[in-house]
Amino acid sequence: MTDLPDELGIDEIIRSLASGAPTTWLRSTRTEAALPDLGDVMDSAAARFDRFAPWFAETFPETATVPAELASAFPDTSGGLIESALVPAPAAQHRLDGLFGSELGGQLWLKRDDSLPVSGSIKARGGFHEVLEFAEAVAEAVAAEHGLDALDPAAYSIREFREIAANHRIVVGSTGNLGLSIGILSARLGFAASVHMSADAREWKKTMLRDHGVDVIEHAGDFVEAVEAGRASAEAAENTHFVDDEDSVSLFAGYSVAALRLERQFAAAGVSIDEQNPLTVYLPCGIGGGPGGVTFGLKRVFGAAVRCVFVEPSQAPAMFLGVRTGQHSGISVQDIGLSGATAADGLAVARPSRFIGPTIGPLISGFAAVPDEVIRAGVGVLHETEGIDVEPSATAGLTIPWRKGETAAQSSTGVHLVWLTGGAMVPGDERAAYVDEGLGLVERISSPASAIFVD
Ligand SMILES: *Cc1c(COP(=O)(O)O)cnc(C)c1O
Repeated sequence: MTDLPDELGIDEIIRSLASGAPTTWLRSTRTEAALPDLGDVMDSAAARFDRFAPWFAETFPETATVPAELASAFPDTSGGLIESALVPAPAAQHRLDGLFGSELGGQLWLKRDDSLPVSGSIKARGGFHEVLEFAEAVAEAVAAEHGLDALDPAAYSIREFREIAANHRIVVGSTGNLGLSIGILSARLGFAASVHMSADAREWKKTMLRDHGVDVIEHAGDFVEAVEAGRASAEAAENTHFVDDEDSVSLFAGYSVAALRLERQFAAAGVSIDEQNPLTVYLPCGIGGGPGGVTFGLKRVFGAAVRCVFVEPSQAPAMFLGVRTGQHSGISVQDIGLSGATAADGLAVARPSRFIGPTIGPLISGFAAVPDEVIRAGVGVLHETEGIDVEPSATAGLTIPWRKGETAAQSSTGVHLVWLTGGAMVPGDERAAYVDEGLGLVERISSPASAIFVD
């Protein structure tokens, strides 16, 4: 273990994190932090998704009708909805009760962003939104000259727009899923797209993007290097938009819309979320943008009745470290001797977003660091109990509801919603390998020897 600088070494939570141990930090909810002034960008993003619904329905036939499991929550929507199901998971809950030898108070539910349409991960929310916002800006700029109406979804299917789009490029750095979402949507709108990928990105993601006509640039370094290369290539270039995962309000706005949808889904399921039946949400966290946007939206919708817990691999707890130390993007997990490496590729991030910690940090109710073995075992639990196959990153939050604090304030009643963040795009053979490996690890899930800190 690296020697910690004195100002960090005196913090028992940082010491626990630095040791690589499963660590949980639950913050008391005595005072509710004020919401940052981002409600308008959230509402604009919701309206933008609504405007583009007819375009999605036409462009991606699989979204043309609203699937049965979403119909009751969205009765007035005819198609083009980018949304995932909300489902109870009693079998997984029962299995985990058994493995941990302790019963969870309340009910376990799953949010199925692993099967969001078109790109199969939570990145469809933020990534699609930023591409759509850019498309509207491009259309707006040429509206007068070309007789386009940027607010009319039909404008994005006509030849004039596609010719203009072909002269514009969208650039992003990604470990995989953000690149997939941005690349697929950019290509469908007619934009040129470049995805800068880190060394750990999966081969099939690169192949899939190239099949969509996206330029894939491979880098030998990590995520930060890929992002830097993308940023540098976009800086000097004309008609080029760089999607900055470290600092984007547009990505954030797209993620936040999930909360408006979730409110309708709980209502349609007959579940009221209030102080008597609080909602605790467990969000896998990489750079922090996805969980940050969702958290802001949920706090705006449910107020004190919701608590959001960010979950990260124990070797890459970037947001946890940034918020706990108050140094945010000024500190990386390597600074406390952790590797930053994890089997959960979407979560292999060593340094958090510049934007999320300072803005959303006060709204986050807790942080948890989970060993890779438990993340991989989660794939097995979901396969065995619910017949759901996801990528490892998606299961990070699955066992966290069983980590209970000692005070009544951290009571475990109400709804425990584990956000499943990715999986549908994983090719069959890789998926089978994740499942096999996960099934072999399930029995290793047992009473969490987790250090739990409550303050
Ligand atoms: C990107 C991603 C996350 C986390 O989102 P961040 O914005 O990086 O925090 C979680 N799960 C999966 C599968 C992802 O691809």
